[in-house]
Amino acid sequence: MTRVGVLGAAGRMGLSIARVATEEGVKIVAAVDRNRPGDDFGEAAGIGRLDVPISSDLAVLQDVEVVVDFSLPDAADALFRECKVPIVTGTTGLSAEATQARDDAATRIPVVAAPNYSQGVTVLFHLAAEAARLLGEGFDAEVVEMHHRRKVDAPSGTAVRLAECVAEVRGLTPVHGRSGQVGARPASEIGVLALRGGDVVGEHTLFLAGLGERLELTHRATDRHLFARGALRAARWIGGRSPGLYDMSDVMGLR
Ligand code: NAD
Repeated sequence: MTRVGVLGAAGRMGLSIARVATEEGVKIVAAVDRNRPGDDFGEAAGIGRLDVPISSDLAVLQDVEVVVDFSLPDAADALFRECKVPIVTGTTGLSAEATQARDDAATRIPVVAAPNYSQGVTVLFHLAAEAARLLGEGFDAEVVEMHHRRKVDAPSGTAVRLAECVAEVRGLTPVHGRSGQVGARPASEIGVLALRGGDVVGEHTLFLAGLGERLELTHRATDRHLFARGALRAARWIGGRSPGLYDMSDVMGLR
């Protein structure tokens, strides 16, 4: 069993990691958060006692096999500077300094970093690039995403990356939304559109629209635990790797 420590333990993702770990052959042995210090991690996550107290001290992560980090940029930055064991990090919005600290850490230890730990999205990126390459210029590429009404940024980072996967292969320019007399669609663009409503966890579709036919590649997230499942897959994978910066494509053997 991989022995994992969690940074950001009291947050939404940290608690999800605790819940999913038992299904995934992963043993939680340490938990760090500035919130809920002293609370038992398992009880905080509603899965019963784990006998792992939430600590505010990063030092409790020294003796774990892998640290899984879903915290906030400042906490992740401190982790990257201090940690001596492999890290799986999902924290987003890193500053330039924190990104540099992560890259420096990856010269000493293995680090998996991914803005989206969904296994399905990781495969979608690869399929999107391959489909766009195979179908070529006769097929117009468009990306549509939908998320719940509380999401404050648009389009999603995943939609941006999906559009990039196609744009890199086909040399296209992303266009975010269209309104007014925009004229006929140039072949050189890829449209990206964001829908918002209800409690939609996250949906992304790539359209490749040709004459007389259309290919659609869709990923639907129905449950936030999917990110924890992907991160814990990375945690099981990272043991014994050489120092370096990896992502979910490495974890899933897609490179
Ligand atoms: P959250 O706000 O619910 O949890 C963050 C936790 O980190 C909080 O409990 C907070 O107390 C703790 N924390 C912050 N600073 C700390 C510090 N200095 N020391 C100790 N603990 C500290 O957020 P969340 O929804 O769980 O998301 C966490 C991060 O993961 C965000 O950056 C989010 O964007 C990212 N995220 C990534 C993925 C992915 O697949 N890569 C998926 C979901 C969320």
